[in-house]
Amino acid sequence: MKFPDLRLAEPLLRAVEAEGYVTPTPIQQQAIPHVIEGRDLLAVAQTGTGKTAAFALPVLHRLAPAAPGRGRPIRVLVLAPTRELAAQIADSFGSYGRHLDFRHAVIFGGVGKAAQKAALRQGLDILVATPGRLLDLMGEGLVDFRRLEVLVVDEADRMLDMGFIHDVRKVISALPTQRQTLLFSATMPEAIVSLSQRILRDPARVEVTPQASTAEKVRQHLLLVERPDKKRLLEVLLHKPQVERAIVFTRTKREANKVTEHLVEAGIGAAAIHGNKSQTHRERALGDFRDGAVKVLVATDIAARGIDVDGISHVINYDLPNVAEQYVHRIGRTARAGRAGMALSFCDLEERAYLRDIEKLIRQPIPVVEQHPYKSTHPPGAVARPAPRPPGGGRGPRQGGRGGAGGRGRSRR
Ligand code: AMP
Repeated sequence: MKFPDLRLAEPLLRAVEAEGYVTPTPIQQQAIPHVIEGRDLLAVAQTGTGKTAAFALPVLHRLAPAAPGRGRPIRVLVLAPTRELAAQIADSFGSYGRHLDFRHAVIFGGVGKAAQKAALRQGLDILVATPGRLLDLMGEGLVDFRRLEVLVVDEADRMLDMGFIHDVRKVISALPTQRQTLLFSATMPEAIVSLSQRILRDPARVEVTPQASTAEKVRQHLLLVERPDKKRLLEVLLHKPQVERAIVFTRTKREANKVTEHLVEAGIGAAAIHGNKSQTHRERALGDFRDGAVKVLVATDIAARGIDVDGISHVINYDLPNVAEQYVHRIGRTARAGRAGMALSFCDLEERAYLRDIEKLIRQPIPVVEQHPYKSTHPPGAVARPAPRPPGGGRGPRQGGRGGAGGRGRSRR
């Protein structure tokens, strides 16, 4: 399939060609026809799948036939969780809409309001916003949504993770109910399912799962190690000169902090990034990682989503993810743009069940590193024995079976 097969307006096809896109990505192939038709959409897709164009192109297509209204009422609102993402989406509207006569603006917190207010007063067709600042400006009576036609909620699960879901609901309650709504989320936790049921009408559902083939480009190794030795093993690995830039994944925010502290004490430049950190902190950490001021970024899965940093030589799974697909997302951070990449995964006895799920998904065993200083004495095939139930009938520690939430629904971390 090529872009003209999607029947997008000619000025959009020209813009897409100028971007150098030849083939629509799977999410674009699936989503664009539904959006052009005017249907609501529930899309399960990650950053990096081409999801921005999957909504921006057909939304622009739908706006295109009508000339901008007098006073330029806002016709499209896109909600995004972070300023980086909001700015990126606004840029994409600018690029894809370059041959069309639309005005767009982006508003987010952490910066002065004057320019944003001026843009709103001037009138615009497409507004991209983070929910907090938008509510602020709505409270000041500066935003008129009476003519709104399309709402896009992007990275809905991340909004949830960052505590914005209440603001999102508030914004939506101020919008006309007659509208087209598109909701994008990488995962579908319960709260997002219920939000989607409330705001979407008979949505088309599209889903792209990460390509298992990502896993084939990355050299992968497994290090059997017991939990108390993980920190020291990590330190040894990160001291190796071939580790130029590494991202270390932990399952919890607390662990991310602890690991970062340990690395800094050991003289390794590291920064943590997760949902509990402020926007300023996250930006600084990311900036330092990009510039090479720190060589290690310690992240939880959700915080790492959307991070697009080139030249990551190593992905280290300090903990194995309990959702197998997450493993593929994690290791896909390395071996980008034709470069080599290595993924090293720590696995303690309790994580062996997760390992089985991952190997089933990627349809290959992950080779075990035989020689390392903290090698577990448990043989590769070992599994944790079910722990005795504690007195009082409570649940014991994680057992040998599949411990975490299966499938896409997942708890917050
Ligand atoms: P996104 O998932 O929207 O963050 O997009 C990820 C990257 O893919 C962006 O850098 C886009 O410019 C790029 N991209 C989007 N669609 C295509 C396409 N059809 N062909 C090639 N690159 C694309």
